[in-house]
Amino acid sequence: MKIAPSNPGIKHRVRNFEAPRHALTARTNRSLPAAMETLEEDVAIVGGGPAGLAAAEVLAAAGHAVAVYERMPSVGRKFLLAGRGGLNLTHGEPLPDFLRRYQPSGSLTEAIAAFPPDALRAWCADLGEPTFVGSSGRVFPKAFKASPLLRAWLRRLDGLGVRIRTRHRLAAYEDGALVFETPEGKTWTRPKAVLLALGGASWPRLGSDGTWVPMLEALGVAVSPLRPANAGFAVAWSEHFRTRFAGEPLKRIGLAADGVIVRGEAMVTAEGIEGGAVYAVSRILRAMIERKGAARLVLDLRPDLTVKALADRLSDPRPGASMATRLRKGAGLSPVAAGLLREAAGAALPADPDALAGLIKAVPLRLHAMAPIERAISTAGGLRLDGLDAAFMLRARPGLFAAGEMLDWEAPTGGYLLQGALSSGRAAAAGMTAWLAANGRVRPA
Ligand SMILES: Cc1cc2nc3c(=O)[nH]c(=O)nc-3n(C[C@H](O)[C@H](O)[C@H](O)COP(=O)(O)OP(=O)(O)OC[C@H]3O[C@@H](n4cnc5c(N)ncnc54)[C@H](O)[C@@H]3O)c2cc1C
Repeated sequence: MKIAPSNPGIKHRVRNFEAPRHALTARTNRSLPAAMETLEEDVAIVGGGPAGLAAAEVLAAAGHAVAVYERMPSVGRKFLLAGRGGLNLTHGEPLPDFLRRYQPSGSLTEAIAAFPPDALRAWCADLGEPTFVGSSGRVFPKAFKASPLLRAWLRRLDGLGVRIRTRHRLAAYEDGALVFETPEGKTWTRPKAVLLALGGASWPRLGSDGTWVPMLEALGVAVSPLRPANAGFAVAWSEHFRTRFAGEPLKRIGLAADGVIVRGEAMVTAEGIEGGAVYAVSRILRAMIERKGAARLVLDLRPDLTVKALADRLSDPRPGASMATRLRKGAGLSPVAAGLLREAAGAALPADPDALAGLIKAVPLRLHAMAPIERAISTAGGLRLDGLDAAFMLRARPGLFAAGEMLDWEAPTGGYLLQGALSSGRAAAAGMTAWLAANGRVRPA
C-alpha cells in the first residue's frame, strides 16, 4: 500500500544522484520524472517492517517530518506473513519472565519496559484491533490476522504525514547521505537523522536479506554473524520413515536439549524436525552444532506419564499382543510417534516393559545441521548491542540509529519477536527525538 504525501512540513526537492550539485539548486519541477524526486525530511527510516513503522509513528507524532524507505513494492510483508499463523503479537507472562527470553538483551530490556506487552495490546486496541490471551499465554488480535491491523496502522501513519517510499533499496550510506536504487535509477537524501530497520536475513524474498552487513561493516560497525534462529534441524531419516511420515505432527511431546526441557509440538519434515517445541531449544541446539558438529535432542513421547506408569500400561497381560498394538493401545502412541521410536531404536524394540517405557520417554535424535537462515523464522546475530548507546544510536556514527531484528538479539517464538521489533523501534524513535533536539542542525557523519 502506498501512502500519499500529506505532511505540509515536508519540502520537496529534486535530487539527481548523478548530478547532485545541479539538482540541489532545482526546486520541485513537475516536468521531472517523479522517481527523481526525493524528500527533504528530518528523519529517514529505512525498512518498512514493524520496527521501522513503529519508529515512524513515534517520530511523526513528535512533529518530525518522516519518510520511510522500503525496497519492496509494499511495507510489512513479513508482518503479514506472521499474520498467517494468527499474528502472535506478544505474550501474557509476567514482565520479569518475559524479559528473560531475550538473549542478549542489553538496551532491549529498557525498550520493552518502556513499551511493554500491555502497552502493545492497548496500542492494538486503539487501532481498532483488540487482542486476547490464548491458553498458552500467547497474545493475538481477535481478528487472528495481520492485515486489518496493518491497514489501520498505515492509515494512522498517513494521518501523521509519514511518507512511505516503496521500491527504494538502500544501496549505500556515504557521508551521511542515503543512496537508494529505484526502478527509475539512483536517488539520494541527506536527512538530519537516520534509522535503519532492515530486519534480519530469514525469508529473504519478503525483503530482508541481510545484505546490509558489509555496508555497515565498511562503516566500522561491529556485526555478529547472522545465523538462523527459530528454525528446524536436519536428521538423517531412513527413506522408509521419511516417505511415510514427513509432514506428520508430533503432538504433546517433551524435548530435552542440554538439560533444558520443554513441552509442545513438533513436525517431522523430509529433512528433519521443526516446530514450536524445537524452536524453543533451537538456540541451545545451534550452539551444540557449532561446537561439536552435531546435537543430541531427546524426545519424550509421553511426557504426561512416569516411566513406571507407562511400563505398567505396557505390561499387557494378553499373550501374543504385537509390538504395534502395545505401542498404540498400551502407550497411546500415534503412528508417527511409534515410527519415530522404531527409527531411533534402529534395531528391534525391547520387549521388556521397563526398557520400552524408558525408550519412549527418552528417544534420542542426532541433529547434524540447522535449517538454512532462508527458512528460519528469525535471525540471530546482527549489529552488536555494545556498538549502540542506550538510545539505539550507533556509537561509531552519531545520528545513525538502528532497531528491530537487525540488532544482535534473539528470542523464541511466542510473540517475543514482534514485541522486540516494536519496542526497539519506538525506543530508537524516542532516542532520535532527543538527539534531534540536542543536535537539530547537525546531520549525521
Ligand atoms: C513465517 C514467519 C512467521 C512469524 N510469525 C511471528 C509471530 O507470530 N510473532 C512474532 O513475534 N514474530 C513472528 N515472526 C517474526 C517477525 O515477523 C519479525 O521478527 C519482525 O517482522 C521483524 O521486524 P523488523 O521490522 O525488524 O524486520 P522486517 O519485518 O524484516 O522488516 C525489515 C524491512 O526492511 C526492508 N529492507 C531490507 N533491506 C532493505 C534495503 N536495503 N533497503 C530498503 N529496505 C530494506 C525489508 O524489505 C523489510 O520490509 C515471524 C516470521 C516469519 C518468517
